[in-house]
Amino acid sequence: MNYSKELEKKIEEYKKSGAKPKLLLHACCAPCSSYVLEYLSEVFDITLYFYNPNISPEKEYVFRSAELIRLVGEMGLSIKVVIEKYSPEEFFEIAKGLEREKEGGERCFKCYELRLRKAGEYAKENGFDYFTTTLSISPYKNAEALNEIGGRVAEAKGVKYLFSDFKKKNGYKRSIELSKEYSLYRQNYCGCIFSKTAAE
Ligand code: SF4
Repeated sequence: MNYSKELEKKIEEYKKSGAKPKLLLHACCAPCSSYVLEYLSEVFDITLYFYNPNISPEKEYVFRSAELIRLVGEMGLSIKVVIEKYSPEEFFEIAKGLEREKEGGERCFKCYELRLRKAGEYAKENGFDYFTTTLSISPYKNAEALNEIGGRVAEAKGVKYLFSDFKKKNGYKRSIELSKEYSLYRQNYCGCIFSKTAAE
């Protein structure tokens, strides 16, 4: 499936009908969220959801979430940002035995699933029409895997996943421009301690 084209069609339909579905947008960080917010906020009633227990250390978690809140304010968007409590033990549990995996391998798929499951649960419990994640904007993230996991979680939880590949349509390039415009902190590692060590 061409996820980007399918989403584009959906956006056109909603623009025509004037409907504004409720979307829970899982956000990994401010730079990745910048373009996705610009792209979707006209059509969807967005709530941002920051749940990233993969991030180490805690001060990085606090800083990335603070940057997200600052971005929303500076973009002039009146959208809610939900910041989940820092819970690294949830990530270390799913990463057991996968510590030596390279970025993009099995550990990352489990990491996507952990975050999408929690987002799907929150979306279901709080009456959202859709949930999705900003993660697919990164060239280092596997959009195919993200959409497969998102679809599976959606079926299990009973809430729709907004299939997407935000790096398309120059999404990644635009996120870099917006990061510069808003002077956003752009981290040099994905998030977990293993990716941090690999980047050092
Ligand atoms: S490299 Fe990134 S996606 Fe992979 S496990 Fe670490 S934080 Fe998660």
